[in-house]
Amino acid sequence: MSRFVYADNAATTPMSESVYNAMKPWLTEFYGNPSSLYRIGNEALHAVSQARQKVAQALHVADPREIVFTGGGSQADNLAISGFVKGPSAKGRKHIITSKIEHHAVLYTCEALEKEGFPVTYLDVDAQGHVDLEQLRQVITDDTALVTIMAANNEIGTIQPLKEIAEIAHAHGAVFHTDAVQAVGHMHIDVQEMGIDLLSLSAHKFRGPKGIGALYLRQGISLKPLVYGGGQERGLCSGTENVAGIVGLGQAIEDACGDNLEPKMNYVRSLTQRLVKGIMDNIPYTHYTGDPVNRLPGTASFVFEAVEGEGLILRLDFAGICGSTGSACSTGSLDPSHVLMALGLPHEIAHGSLRLTLGENNTEEDVDYLIEQVTEVVAGLRAMSPVWENGKPNLTAASALHD
Ligand SMILES: *Cc1c(COP(=O)(O)O)cnc(C)c1O
Repeated sequence: MSRFVYADNAATTPMSESVYNAMKPWLTEFYGNPSSLYRIGNEALHAVSQARQKVAQALHVADPREIVFTGGGSQADNLAISGFVKGPSAKGRKHIITSKIEHHAVLYTCEALEKEGFPVTYLDVDAQGHVDLEQLRQVITDDTALVTIMAANNEIGTIQPLKEIAEIAHAHGAVFHTDAVQAVGHMHIDVQEMGIDLLSLSAHKFRGPKGIGALYLRQGISLKPLVYGGGQERGLCSGTENVAGIVGLGQAIEDACGDNLEPKMNYVRSLTQRLVKGIMDNIPYTHYTGDPVNRLPGTASFVFEAVEGEGLILRLDFAGICGSTGSACSTGSLDPSHVLMALGLPHEIAHGSLRLTLGENNTEEDVDYLIEQVTEVVAGLRAMSPVWENGKPNLTAASALHD
């Protein structure tokens, strides 16, 4: 019973030993401000510039000056979207196109801009969570400044057709931003090949520290700054650099990408396949959400009929398992996640969602324990459920319950 299995790598990942060791001197001995002229300042400046090169290399960016460090993924998203439409490169264009399944860092930025007079179109997705390219072609106009679509979804793992989206955006003179916070370090990303103009990433999603991220900004694009001050990060994100965090990001992206990426993806994918098979074989009235093939290697996402996600998470926690649910009861709202609703899942079913996200630290034993415990917990919750009768869900009752 004392087993502990961390299966919430989409929420955050454990920082690696290698990242911790790389950061340590920059928190202790070498505390200089990168803007200072003496030696320990210069050393810090050099460390920041080396980390910038590592980020550029991982994304296939030609010039490291196109990388801007931010205080995480949310800040990178805000800088990209607000900074672009309010900046000089938008050239007076105001329209923004995004999707209904974006992370709140994108969705709420767009909603705030909408209130300031920037028209926003929220694209639909199909049942597996792919944006509707036909709809994108129809709604894009010569007033569209920015198309912002995530690379891979944090709840269901579906990967979007980035290259096609970029082509459609560019054909109308619009710029393409992608929130790649779930994707970087977990799938191949090449900003040149994919036609990406702006890209957000965050270190803590690939074994780096929290509170540090970056925005890739294609040469020639100018943004309105996110933070004004000392002019750091080309004036876009002022403030004394988080040197240790930046060094940690550099180490984490180097460890996660390049030659290390493919073997890690294969390992994590095989664990996830074992998990999905076990759960789908064991538990009836279960839906596997997202694209079954073209998805992040570590994301296993399910919806169990006649189960409440919140209860599921609490009972799994009791069994030493960290997972997450898209059902937002736990965050103070009664609505299921906007992502699951956008897939067209009925309200009464979408409440029973479970996301288990595996990483390179997980083992086959972890997976077998997950299968065993999830099976047991779902059966236990169903046995108590008012909408579970004679071994199957009573959907009429379920629907009445959630009205
Ligand atoms: C985690 C996440 C973010 C936010 O990143 P932070 O570094 O936590 O601010 C944004 N977008 C997606 C898709 C994410 O998964």
